[in-house]
Amino acid sequence: MRALSNALTQNRLHHAYLFTGTRGVGKTTIARIFAKSLNCVMGITAEPCGTCSVCMEIDTGRFVDLIELDAASNTQVDNMRELLEGALYLPTSGRFKVYIIDEVHMLSKAAFNAMLKTLEEPPAHVKFILATTDPQKIPVTVLSRCLQFNLKQLPAPMILTHLQYVLGQENIPFQSAACALIARAAQGSMRDALSLLDQAIAYSDSQVDEETVRNMLGAIDQQYLYDLLRALLARDGVGLLAVADNMTSRSLPFDVALQDFATLLHRIALIQTIPAAMAEDETERETLQDLAQRFSAEEIQLYYQIAIHGRNEIELAPDEYAGFTMTLLRMLAFMPATTGVGAVVSPAHLAPVAAHGVALNKPQAQQLEQAKQANRLLDPIKSQPINSSNVSVDVSAEHSALGIDWSALLGQINVQGMARELARHCTMQSFVGGKLSLNLSPQHKHLLTNKAAHEKLQIALTEYLVQPVRLQVALSKGNDAITPAAVEKNRQDMRQQQAVESIMQDTFVLDAQALLGAQVLTESLKPL
Ligand SMILES: [Zn+2]
Repeated sequence: MRALSNALTQNRLHHAYLFTGTRGVGKTTIARIFAKSLNCVMGITAEPCGTCSVCMEIDTGRFVDLIELDAASNTQVDNMRELLEGALYLPTSGRFKVYIIDEVHMLSKAAFNAMLKTLEEPPAHVKFILATTDPQKIPVTVLSRCLQFNLKQLPAPMILTHLQYVLGQENIPFQSAACALIARAAQGSMRDALSLLDQAIAYSDSQVDEETVRNMLGAIDQQYLYDLLRALLARDGVGLLAVADNMTSRSLPFDVALQDFATLLHRIALIQTIPAAMAEDETERETLQDLAQRFSAEEIQLYYQIAIHGRNEIELAPDEYAGFTMTLLRMLAFMPATTGVGAVVSPAHLAPVAAHGVALNKPQAQQLEQAKQANRLLDPIKSQPINSSNVSVDVSAEHSALGIDWSALLGQINVQGMARELARHCTMQSFVGGKLSLNLSPQHKHLLTNKAAHEKLQIALTEYLVQPVRLQVALSKGNDAITPAAVEKNRQDMRQQQAVESIMQDTFVLDAQALLGAQVLTESLKPL
């Protein structure tokens, strides 16, 4: 805005301007003010008087030398030619003929070409103001002839101030908290804020109050977001999924929910860093303060990252529910490392995920039960629940020196084939500043040169850890006994041994051996 004002005050005028920005940030509004600035009877000025004939005609849309075109509904070249023919004639009553072309990226290629001719040799009395939400769709030849201004989304406090000003001007009594709710719901768009305010005024009796606005915004009631945070705080996986299920029954859109969740996390982060950042009339003041104290700043930052990342990939998920719950489970599975680098997979936090896995895994449990009943002899692990989380606790207790349990992490990332083989035969050396170093067991050194596997694993780690990961693999000189593959083999051996022991202690088998001289072929035994 300052650049525009300076250009006007110092009379350094360009013949074409491009205003970019998301919808509702005020591109066409500023374009019209600019048209007034150029044509105001009081002279070219950064502050048009607003009272002369030109200013008033522009305000009411009757100024003949201001030509507005909505490219979205006039994409054809003929419209453009017709429009530009008029550019050759001098302005009727103003200093300049001003063309405002909104959503200019919608123009056809031919229409752009027609416009380009005029842009290349513009008559001195013509000014173009182009506006777009999508500057990348504008040909470079056109872009290069425009002075470009990017209009930022308006921050909620600025919208709030303006809403209060408008209500003050109209002499409508209001509660500040009501305006704060509208300002936040408008998400950076002044136009949306004003139209919500109009609705709120229509809904209200004597004053625009918080309750009315809250009811009006009903769908945007964010209580469930607080429920999510509380479940995270309690590391309650079942609670998290209950919120998600409840959202399904209320048909709340999951991608919007992730965005709103990120916004809430941002507000909490702000309060943690700058307590004064919380507005006096903040409606959720106490709740927010409470949450800001219960979570660490690192936790909030991490959840924020995961929420943003989850929203990006929700389109790739099998369905939105899966994408949303996966994101929540990720928040549950991670906690920030105390060193400030990387993320820690902590067994304690994996437990709820594993517990939920058991609950989901009914068919397997049934199968197991049937198999047990069919053959009681082959039940070496009846005292151990299948998929049991204590297995990963055992493993991680040995290998979590770095704060990351490589075996458990590998169980969660999405890699197959050679990339998984590579990962399975490595131990983790370090994870510092985004560099994840692995040591490959020398027995599998052929995997060291497999670039594709290396790359796939690096991508999967980057996705899972929600940060750029540089993978470095070197041949191991030390202990290979704790690679995921070795750990898995140990575990299998242990189960085999348990199976054998349990068979050997079975009374029926003992009787058979004693009475019939039967032999047990241990190689033929397989644990369930
Ligand atoms: Zn004026």
